[in-house]
Amino acid sequence: MKCLITGGAGFIGSYLCEHLLAQGHEVICVDNFITGFKKNLRHLRLNSKFHFMEFDCSKPLALREKVELIFHFASPASPPKYQQFPLETLLVNSLGTYNLVELAKQNNASFIFASTSEIYGDPQEHPQRETYWGNVNPTGERSCYDESKRLGESIVMTNVRKFGLDGRIIRIFNTYGPRMDINDGRVITNFIQEILNNKPITINGDGNQTRSFCYITDLVKGILLIGLTEDLKGEVFNLGNETEITILSLAQKVQNLTNNHGNIQYNSMPQDDPARRRPDITKIKNRLHWEPEVSLDQGLINTIEYFKTNSV
Ligand code: UDP
Repeated sequence: MKCLITGGAGFIGSYLCEHLLAQGHEVICVDNFITGFKKNLRHLRLNSKFHFMEFDCSKPLALREKVELIFHFASPASPPKYQQFPLETLLVNSLGTYNLVELAKQNNASFIFASTSEIYGDPQEHPQRETYWGNVNPTGERSCYDESKRLGESIVMTNVRKFGLDGRIIRIFNTYGPRMDINDGRVITNFIQEILNNKPITINGDGNQTRSFCYITDLVKGILLIGLTEDLKGEVFNLGNETEITILSLAQKVQNLTNNHGNIQYNSMPQDDPARRRPDITKIKNRLHWEPEVSLDQGLINTIEYFKTNSV
């Protein structure tokens, strides 16, 4: 199949390019490097089925050839990065989604939208099922991301209903692994960077807030299933790992795995930081027989090892 991947130079996007190529598909990868990196694609450049375009996906994209499958994964995604680029984030998830859905319609292509657990905001339902509508502050610091992803979902579903678009939505929960940007400000990369540099671990708030972390290879297998399985038009899937952990326990786990028991520094809690987050993945387990395989300990060991050998 001929696939277009926006955000293909990002953390998740680059794994997606790699796995699609490994399955024999042709990949057109588009990225403007706002938070992605050329180095994430270096190992793919010599593959004759891989094509790259540097382009800002909030603008209409003209392709010379027809594509069958579009994965819209372009967007800053860590809280510090989307707050550094709030307008770009708003635009790529709103106007960008609109434009790429138009391209999908012209090509009669399937459209896979990378949404996020952030659309649930600070959830009042726990764990979060796909049927939950969320609890989002529409004007807060996180809203450039949360609300534009919500609008992106609405654009996809409106086109599914009105024009029969084969649109599918993936709500991606916290994901980690080798090749993350060590400076993106996410919790796992921050903790590893702090420990490897012998600095105190910085915890926001009291560390009792929870997250559920999915290892990148598990996540990508789920994305491919959602993208490549037939008859999923209009379906929304949570994708993530159900193992929930407090941020304080995560810090202690990273300390234990690195045998480095330095200080913990407590900072103030950022605005609208969700108190709890865990996906209900019953739907994807039942429909597509997907579930995560890599434990948090094993995934953290792999990630720490990666950052030890790739300078931080
Ligand atoms: N966090 C933290 N220390 C850090 C970075 C993040 O305690 O150095 C917290 C953050 O406030 C949040 C959780 O860890 O409660 C996960 O944050 P992250 O930025 O990784 O992603 P989020 O799930 O909030 O989008």
